[in-house]
Amino acid sequence: MHKYKCPNCQGTGKQVWEEDFKKQFDVCYHCSNTGVIDHETMENDLLNQLVNVIAVKMSELSKKEVNENGEGFEFFAAESGLSDREYFIHDVWKNEKSVIKELTFLSPQFINALKSLLTTKIQPIKKEFKEEFKEESVSEDIPF
Ligand SMILES: [Zn+2]
Repeated sequence: MHKYKCPNCQGTGKQVWEEDFKKQFDVCYHCSNTGVIDHETMENDLLNQLVNVIAVKMSELSKKEVNENGEGFEFFAAESGLSDREYFIHDVWKNEKSVIKELTFLSPQFINALKSLLTTKIQPIKKEFKEEFKEESVSEDIPF
């Protein structure tokens, strides 16, 4: 069974972020600190990525729409008390839900074709690697 580099932590098993100019570390929950994910998780990641791409495109298109009263995206954002950016993110979430719903109506053959296309043609997450990778990435050369 192939293992894949975790896209969340780039195979380190740790999440790193900066807070008050200091590097903070935490366990990567996506891969349970292992740095690797299995085939099913990788496929789910890709499907989620695809759902997000479609949802963002839908939101970008609706951003340009104006109703018969001349009210558009900015108007509805202001009306809901959100910034344009917050409203956009909210709109993407809403669209992601409906895209996921639509995907459940696809035939298993189509889903499989889509997964195969994703895992062979879409590059960002598909990083197969050998078992020795983890040792290599974790060991760091200390110059003394
Ligand atoms: Zn991870």
